[in-house]
Amino acid sequence: MSICVVEHDELHALVQRLIQQGPAMGPRERQQQPGFYYFDWLNSADELVLDYVTTTLPPKKAFFPPREPFLEFSRTDPAKVRSMTDEGPFVLLGVHPCDLAAIEQLDIAYSDNIADGRYLANRARTTAIIGVDCWPDEYCLCTSVGTEQARGSADLFLTPIQRGYLVEVRTPRGQELLGDSAQLPATDQDEADTAQFRREKQRRVTAKFATGVEQFADILAAGGLTEVWQEVADRCYSCGSCSLVCPTCFCFDINDDINLDLTTGARIRTWDSCQLPDFALVAGGHNFRGERWERVRHRWHRKFLYLYTQYGRPFCTGCGRCSRACTADINLVEVSNDLIAYAQRETQNV
Ligand code: SF4
Ligand code: SF4
Repeated sequence: MSICVVEHDELHALVQRLIQQGPAMGPRERQQQPGFYYFDWLNSADELVLDYVTTTLPPKKAFFPPREPFLEFSRTDPAKVRSMTDEGPFVLLGVHPCDLAAIEQLDIAYSDNIADGRYLANRARTTAIIGVDCWPDEYCLCTSVGTEQARGSADLFLTPIQRGYLVEVRTPRGQELLGDSAQLPATDQDEADTAQFRREKQRRVTAKFATGVEQFADILAAGGLTEVWQEVADRCYSCGSCSLVCPTCFCFDINDDINLDLTTGARIRTWDSCQLPDFALVAGGHNFRGERWERVRHRWHRKFLYLYTQYGRPFCTGCGRCSRACTADINLVEVSNDLIAYAQRETQNV
């Protein structure tokens, strides 16, 4: 890996060049809702916002769209079954460390055991990823899950500094992207600015788990936290927003949508949420998690116990989206700390 400095105007020209060469997706600000950001296709470098807090939906939608048609079919003419393929390659810009970590986690989950061919094909269309460092808000918990410096599969990673951006060139593809851009050698002052940015970022993260993720997994594994689960469930609406905005949630449903002619249709994959009441409903009417508290508990077990045990890292990258999106103000860090405090009290009472 090498580092260099690229000034603001030069980066703007680089982004413009990438957009002209092919599709590029990056964070943009909602015109109707200033202060809210979303990943979308860029028409011009002016649309790209690099100093955003977070987006409502994560960039996983580039590889795992909320609604993805797989094939079109005709009941009367089986020869008309047509696989729906996506367009060509694209680049992904302006991805925060937590979302870079999440993309890495989805890559692992979707490659493991039975690989998800569609996801991997979409991922392969991503010819480059450019990450950027960020300031946290009150919901970000990256320092508790160790993603504040994650780089994932970024080809270039940008840290804002006085002279523009300190650029980590992480892959040969990253060097290729820089192309003819004027790359200034990083001075001692640039490196000091970068270190200061990282220290300040760390300092600004205020939402923190009261234990490490390993101890938290042990607490969840020990069980017996029903009172806390019930208290959260009493406030929860089972709306599913928390998992639908999560960058590491990968559950989906597949349905055949029939057209009004009743003979043609399309097979569609859509995001699903374990918080929805019928998620674990099976034939015969049995629901494995029919009670709301069981679904709430499942969300925490899934993020911090099951997948932690399976892959050696929590499947939470600390983006804070679930807490921001929750209509009932259920905060991931507050609930986790309630669970930790409850378990510690129980241990002291034994
Ligand atoms: S669980 Fe919440 S904070 Fe963690 S990655 Fe998912 S949305 Fe972000
Ligand atoms: S977003 Fe909040 S209210 Fe909705 S399911 Fe998640 S925890 Fe419950």
